[in-house]
Amino acid sequence: MTQTTTTASIPRPDRTLAETDRTRHRRLREQGSLDRAALDAILAAGFVCHLGVIVDGSVRVMPTVYGSDGTTLYFHGSVASRSLVSSPDAEVCVTVTHVDGLVLARSAFEHGVNYRSAMIYGVPRPVTDDQEKTAGLRCLTEQCAPGQWDYARRPDRKELAATALLALSLDEASVKIRTGAPDDGDGPDAARGRWAGVLPLHTTWGAPQPDPALGTEPPAAPHHIAARADTPAS
Ligand SMILES: Cc1cc2nc3c(=O)[nH]c(=O)nc-3n(C[C@H](O)[C@H](O)[C@H](O)COP(=O)(O)OP(=O)(O)OC[C@H]3O[C@@H](n4cnc5c(N)ncnc54)[C@H](O)[C@@H]3O)c2cc1C
Repeated sequence: MTQTTTTASIPRPDRTLAETDRTRHRRLREQGSLDRAALDAILAAGFVCHLGVIVDGSVRVMPTVYGSDGTTLYFHGSVASRSLVSSPDAEVCVTVTHVDGLVLARSAFEHGVNYRSAMIYGVPRPVTDDQEKTAGLRCLTEQCAPGQWDYARRPDRKELAATALLALSLDEASVKIRTGAPDDGDGPDAARGRWAGVLPLHTTWGAPQPDPALGTEPPAAPHHIAARADTPAS
């Protein structure tokens, strides 16, 4: 999905991800990437992440929608969401994953997944300023459905007050990408003559389904929604 926020295209001088103790790849290092553009592409291609957070001493990994403006990830939810608001000063780890195919090898051991994934670490900042909150919510809405912020009614003061928004810097992040064939094409199992290869996985958007509340003759879906039918979703 292409993101249409105003700040996403601002060029950054350093296009390399800084390695830290926790982002340094140790296993399957060849799949690791320090290319900042790879991180941007993975984030731009999705809108759902998994937010790992400690709540009352117990780990939770919560699927949630995000928006990225190229330097910051935004998450939102109810002000009553304990995962979002109960540990304001705590470290979180966020993952974004796109599965591109199954890697079907000759041996069960060598089976794998072709994927693009990112992990982001940090302490999220609660956004309280109404103007910044509105910008963050715009970013998040546009990440899911570019064009929708201008089409839908904007949040009013009451809705803003009922919404928690967290901002997480993209300064500490790692990227891993696997592409290509199984790894055992030149191993002893190749002599077995069994099929091996990749079963690609493609996700695409479907045709828009009007809300039944629109009645039997609903208005046409706006172009920014209708045009996405049959296009890749990640
Ligand atoms: C859909 C999917 C399925 C997978 N299935 C398996 C599986 O069944 N078994 C398996 O062993 N591995 C699997 N992986 C790979 C897995 O995510 C780890 O990369 C791998 O297991 C190495 O883990 P580790 O803790 O030894 O990594 P380490 O190399 O010790 O990790 C060091 C640091 O590298 C970064 N890192 C590690 N993995 C990733 C990643 N995937 N994306 C972004 N940054 C990363 C993190 O910042 C981490 O702290 C899968 C990945 C995906 C996306």
